[in-house]
Amino acid sequence: MSIKENLIEIKNTFVNPNCKLVAVSKTKPVDALKEAYAAGIRDFGENKVQELVDKQTQMPQDTQWHMIGHLQRNKVKYIAPFIYLIHGVDSFKLLKEINKEAKKADRIIPCLLQMHIAKEESKFGFDQVELEEMLQSKEIKELEHVKIVGLMGMATFTDNEDVIRREFKGLKALFEELKSNELPQNFNLKEISMGMSGDYLIAQEEGSTMVRIGSAIFGSRN
Ligand SMILES: *Cc1c(COP(=O)(O)O)cnc(C)c1O
Repeated sequence: MSIKENLIEIKNTFVNPNCKLVAVSKTKPVDALKEAYAAGIRDFGENKVQELVDKQTQMPQDTQWHMIGHLQRNKVKYIAPFIYLIHGVDSFKLLKEINKEAKKADRIIPCLLQMHIAKEESKFGFDQVELEEMLQSKEIKELEHVKIVGLMGMATFTDNEDVIRREFKGLKALFEELKSNELPQNFNLKEISMGMSGDYLIAQEEGSTMVRIGSAIFGSRN
């Protein structure tokens, strides 16, 4: 099936038609992105800065670029001038660096805090204690060039749907808990980025507002 057909089929399965679709185009050639663009997609997700910047120069100006992977602090400067949303903010240090580069670019960059929800010991993401510490700090309020618009999480890589569902439920619960607090003015929580090709329906059932789908659109990666 073509990219366009895949997109139509995926959208038809959405249990929440308002859920945003980010087309994860990592490793795929620009021609594939253009095909998705022609089919109406404007949001593209990449996980490597160099690749994202390369593709950005070759795609139409109104393409919205999402940084979905682990972001190294020394690379923030390359995407700060144009990035639409950074999904993988996994440390306070990284958030401060984004703020610094956003200031230079005269922007306010929307960010999602990546929460560590999976069983497996992935290195990335805040745990609840780290999140609490950041919220208690007085520095967080001073970051005027970032806007925390939500949370992001990745479920354990497993076939066990109960495990995946439980982890997504946990992220949604944390999101609601967080929202019920008094938060700094650079917070405006609206998005929960969860769900990929294999688990986006479960994610939507559990309250995802944004799914990041790659292989189901573009085919498997090598
Ligand atoms: C690659 C990737 C995806 C998309 O994965 P698929 O299984 O191909 O849909 C989503 N989120 C992140 C963070 C990724 O790195």
